[in-house]
Amino acid sequence: PQLANQIAAGEVVERPASVVKELVENSLDAGATRVDIDIEKGGAKLIRIQDNGGGIAKDELALALSRHATSKLGSIDDLEAILSFGFRGEALASISSVSRLTLTSKTAEQTEAWLAYAEGSEMAVKVMPAAHPQGTTIEVADLFFNTPARRRFLKSDKTEFTHIDEWLKRIAIARPEIHLTLKHNGKQVRNYRPAHTESQLLQRLTQVCGRAFAEQAVSVSCEHDGLRLTGYLQSPMQQDLVDAHYFYVNGRHVRDRLVTHAVKQAFAGQTEVEQPGYVLMLQLDPHQVDVNVHPAKHEVRFHEARMVHDFVLQGLSSALEQCWS
Ligand code: ADP
Ligand code: MG
Repeated sequence: PQLANQIAAGEVVERPASVVKELVENSLDAGATRVDIDIEKGGAKLIRIQDNGGGIAKDELALALSRHATSKLGSIDDLEAILSFGFRGEALASISSVSRLTLTSKTAEQTEAWLAYAEGSEMAVKVMPAAHPQGTTIEVADLFFNTPARRRFLKSDKTEFTHIDEWLKRIAIARPEIHLTLKHNGKQVRNYRPAHTESQLLQRLTQVCGRAFAEQAVSVSCEHDGLRLTGYLQSPMQQDLVDAHYFYVNGRHVRDRLVTHAVKQAFAGQTEVEQPGYVLMLQLDPHQVDVNVHPAKHEVRFHEARMVHDFVLQGLSSALEQCWS
């Protein structure tokens, strides 16, 4: 199973940012409202994620580290309409096969916290008492210590940290109600406070996309036939480059030519900017889209891509029109 886990790790764990992604998604799946991320040396030395979610019961700690142990797949039907982030049940097993992983957790029902520790080479998991408030902390130390070839592929600490920071921005936009903090080498780099009111949302948008974008953006909001598009588009008045390109499908960040194409078309000659900035959320019937094309890539397949494209283009065009008039 160790080898299988390490092979799976090749799929799931490409770099520190992919570890952060899997762990934070688990925290959100567990209902956390706050997630604190501590990184040392770009994540190569340490990745520590603490959440205030539901926690993992003592007798499920060891299980959570074993392959295909997911608590999230009720029936095979769920595969069709996956709404929670995780469903593959191999992230923790994969990560623990290529690092020194400590899992500390306390559920609301338990009076004390428990810690489980797994080390790359032997899969024996040790469980012992610990101190921890309700929720979970996962520490991933010495990533790829036992797979030197992969370790050599890591870029500089700064580059690896930038990947983590960029990924966190995507989540900060998608989940404004979650308090997210990020530290690097003991220094706080981000503090995304929970945003509920209009002005708090504007503040978060400012933190992620910059003041110019947040203050001048054209808002987008339209609905048709079960499709719903909301978000912001860079103002055509704003001629400087905004590096904010965020697209979400049912809450999941997605990289898709469909949206970049629709944005270009909507602007058609009205701006000098090569690729205007956007923050767009598309909601549609989950049966209309395949999300699990590849676990680590942000790809989706729309069953009716043409129709979705035209809907997005229509929504963007009318938002821009309103801004002209
Ligand atoms: P998956 O997320 O695909 O189910 P993972 O390997 O990522 O698989 O996690 C395995 C299991 O461990 C999860 O199904 C969940 O039950 C538990 N788990 C992991 N992280 C957390 C967390 N932060 N809080 C609560 N439970 C967690
Ligand atoms: Mg998961």
